[in-house]
Amino acid sequence: MRLPDWVKAQPPAIGGPAIGGLGAGVLELKKFLRKSGIHTVCEEARCPNKAACFSRSGAAFLIMGPVCTRNCGFCSVRSAMDSGGTGPVGSGPSGLGPLSGDEPERLAAAARAMGLRYVVITSVTRDDLEDGGAGHFADCIRAVKSGIPGARVEVLTPDFGGSRTALETVLSAGPDVFNHNVETVPGLYPAVRPQADYKRSLSVLGWASESGIPVKSGFMLGLGEKTEEVAAVMRDLRAGGCRMLTIGQYLRPSRRSLPVSEYVRPERFVELKTAALAMGFRSVASGPLVRSSMNAEEYYRDV
Ligand code: SF4
Repeated sequence: MRLPDWVKAQPPAIGGPAIGGLGAGVLELKKFLRKSGIHTVCEEARCPNKAACFSRSGAAFLIMGPVCTRNCGFCSVRSAMDSGGTGPVGSGPSGLGPLSGDEPERLAAAARAMGLRYVVITSVTRDDLEDGGAGHFADCIRAVKSGIPGARVEVLTPDFGGSRTALETVLSAGPDVFNHNVETVPGLYPAVRPQADYKRSLSVLGWASESGIPVKSGFMLGLGEKTEEVAAVMRDLRAGGCRMLTIGQYLRPSRRSLPVSEYVRPERFVELKTAALAMGFRSVASGPLVRSSMNAEEYYRDV
C-alpha cells in the first residue's frame, strides 16, 4: 500500500532551541543520549516524528533497557522472545538484564542538560521482574523531580500484569500525568497485543484515575478496527475516568510487524476528536502522525 502524503514524517524544526549548553541539532542530541547511555522510545520504536521532536529537544525516555519481554505485533522494540522464543527470561542471550541502578540519576542528568521542564518517561514491559519495574519507575520520577526543581513528569507505563500494588508504587512518587495506552480495540488484541488484556488495561487506568491524577490513554487506527469498536473503546476510557486521549495512524515500523490495513484520512481523525471532546475528554490529540508522547507538555496544559 502506498504511503499517502498525510503520513509522511515531519522534517526537523529549523533553528529550534539549543540543548542546554550542549549545542543544538538532532545529531548532537543522538550522540549525547548515546554517551549518557539513555534510550528513547523515539529511536527504539522508529517514531515518524523523531527528527521533528529531537530538533526541539523533545524526547520520551525509555527506561529498563531496550529489550521487552512481550512481542506486540505493532511494535519494533526488540523482544526477548526473538532470542530463543521461550518468553521472559532473567538475563543472557535474550538481552534482558538486571536494571541499571544509576539509570534514575543518569536520566535526570540528561533531562537537565537538555533543559527539559516536562519529562516523559516510558519503559519496555519487564514481566520478568517481580514488581514489573514499578520501583524503578518511582526512582526515576523522584530523581527527575529532585534534580530539576519544578519539573513535571509524565509516565507512560506497561500494565504491570494488572498489579494494583505496582501501580501504587509508581503513583507514590508523584508523577503529574499517568498514561497507559490501550493501543487498539479489544477484538484485535490477539494479533496486536498478544500478552496483554484489554480489561486489565482498563482496570489499571481506572485505579490510576481514582487517585485524582490526570489519566491519559491512546490507540491507533489502521489495524482493521471497525467504527463501532472505536466508539466503544472511547466510551470505556471515559467511563474509567480517562481525561486525555491520543489517536494516531498505525505505521508498520518493520517488515516483521503487522501490515497496515488502512491509511485513515485526516478528516476521520478530526471527527473522532470532536466526538471525544463531546464525550468529556479534556485533552484530545488526534491526527495521522499523533503519538502518545508528542507535544505532551502542551496537552498537559489543557487539563
Ligand atoms: S509491551 Fe510495549 S515495548 Fe513491549 S512489545 Fe509491546 S508495545 Fe513494544
